[in-house]
Amino acid sequence: MFHINKFSLATILLFLPLISSAEIFVSPVVATDKITNNYVVGPGSFQIVQLPSKGSTQDTYLININAGNAIYKDITAYIVDQQNLSLYQTGQPFRGIGYQKAIAPFAIQGSTQTSGPKYLILDNKFAAIIAKKLSITVEARLPVDSTDQQRIEKTFTQLYDNLKSKLIFPDFNIHVEPCGQVNASSDSRTHDIKYCTETISQLARTNNEGAFTAIFLHEAGHSLLGAWGIPGNNNEDIADEFSTYMLMSSGPSGYALLDRSLEFWQNRDVISEASAMIINGDRHSLSIQRARNIKENMQSGESFIKKWNHLMYQHYTDEALNKVTTNPTYGDDIQLAQSTIKQRQSK
Ligand SMILES: [Zn+2]
Repeated sequence: MFHINKFSLATILLFLPLISSAEIFVSPVVATDKITNNYVVGPGSFQIVQLPSKGSTQDTYLININAGNAIYKDITAYIVDQQNLSLYQTGQPFRGIGYQKAIAPFAIQGSTQTSGPKYLILDNKFAAIIAKKLSITVEARLPVDSTDQQRIEKTFTQLYDNLKSKLIFPDFNIHVEPCGQVNASSDSRTHDIKYCTETISQLARTNNEGAFTAIFLHEAGHSLLGAWGIPGNNNEDIADEFSTYMLMSSGPSGYALLDRSLEFWQNRDVISEASAMIINGDRHSLSIQRARNIKENMQSGESFIKKWNHLMYQHYTDEALNKVTTNPTYGDDIQLAQSTIKQRQSK
């Protein structure tokens, strides 16, 4: 039997997270996004590329090797650990995953199953005169340690709690997992959000917290509009507008995040997007169009926020409505908030 005294009960309640029935599931493995780099490896020489790694025996790679040479497309390539890199560099026999003088394009896949950092050796020592122009695409699957897991959970908890403090909606769960591409999605039935680790990897590398938040809010837009039964919840441009509204109406810091997020859309590859759209029937507008739409809405300023207030205030929490009436900020509509509060009280 165990006993909870009043003090410890109060303490527990104090530290209960705001999210009660929502859960954040973090996959034990993260997949990085594809990173492509070009290398010119001269004749008689080699190059060492450091690979993304958690220093774990579980670090696993898929590396695609392409050569831009017209005829001579052969290269020796191996994934190695630190110890075998040293052996290779001192001309001794070494162990690694890869191929001797293979003809590009080819792929190397697998894990050295050893701890510590990992490297890719690109060896053109056998060539007398031809330099190899290589394009190397690296994807890694790396284990998530408890520190990573807590950091990811904390980040999503903050996003979710911010949403919950402003809006009333049925709880949904968040799944952070590898998807095979940079993406995120909202389940139209459960309203759960899937946030791909590839997206987190890319946004962490480009240090784009704005896009990280805007993408979360885009998916939350699908989920919440769906849960509220609002038509257009599947519409990609409306989900973007929801995200834009949430960030713009949260003041200068939100506006800065939104502005930063534009870079993510502007840097996407339009040609591959357009072909994916035709092949897979993607419903999203092209990223450059999305960036343009978001920018236009940002430029509309208060009038854009006020238009959305008419849809959103009825779903605001009491606290959020009270804040509009007592401490209004950019785009807030005091009268609309007051009449929404009145309606609520008369029910
Ligand atoms: Zn969407």
